[in-house]
Amino acid sequence: MIRSEPPDRRPAPHADVTAPVRRGYERYARQAGTWLRGYEARGGRVYCGAGCFACCDMPIRVSLAEALITAQALDPVKAGAVERHARAALANARTARSDEEYVARHRQEVGFCPLLDRESGACSEYDSRPTRCRDTFSAFPARYCASGTWESMSRREQEAYRREVARTPGTDGELHFVAPLEHLSEPVWVAAAKSMRQAWGLEVWGDFWVLTTLARDAAFMARIGVGDGRGAWKAAQRAGLAHPALLEIG
Ligand code: SF4
Ligand code: SF4
Repeated sequence: MIRSEPPDRRPAPHADVTAPVRRGYERYARQAGTWLRGYEARGGRVYCGAGCFACCDMPIRVSLAEALITAQALDPVKAGAVERHARAALANARTARSDEEYVARHRQEVGFCPLLDRESGACSEYDSRPTRCRDTFSAFPARYCASGTWESMSRREQEAYRREVARTPGTDGELHFVAPLEHLSEPVWVAAAKSMRQAWGLEVWGDFWVLTTLARDAAFMARIGVGDGRGAWKAAQRAGLAHPALLEIG
């Protein structure tokens, strides 16, 4: 006879921190959908779609509140892949001589997010992806999002790009991403900051893969849970995941 286990009715850890962010994600999806329908009705075009992933090699900044949501969705295999990616991002941060070098090497050498399904081009954790992955939309084809495209363009092509961006409604006039859809996500950042401060008396921000790994680290989360920022930093150091560019506690 197979004994069935009773259902686990324990609330997810740190639900007081993650619930406002989850509500923010739902609100954002509704508002972004409405905005997009209006944009397209006015003749605008957004190129993002299923299987498009050239942006999934960019560095991503998140709050620990968002990272907890992703961390709680991962199985051990994915968690291991995220940790390896976090350590590669950290090695890059330790040796990069500038922000530009950090970003370029992240895209070219650290590479694509391990949560990307390379066969289908889909995000394998779509429902628990962080804010930045939700609010990045492109008014130009994906090749303009890809690493190395700008560098490969001639000066004349770069000037044509600038002119085209400047006359494309919805951009900020400098880059081809859709600015109002980024602004719409600001309440999610605010909700994350507020819920972390209320629950822990501090905020934690940083690299997506580093924070997702630390969100599964019991020693780190125990110190965060009691508002001990210094102790949390030491726990991150012991885990080999402390770097001021990728982990901010305060
Ligand atoms: S931002 Fe660019 S690469 Fe990312 S889904 Fe949209 S078009 Fe594709
Ligand atoms: S979480 Fe998903 S959408 Fe975001 S970078 Fe990773 S694969 Fe891409």
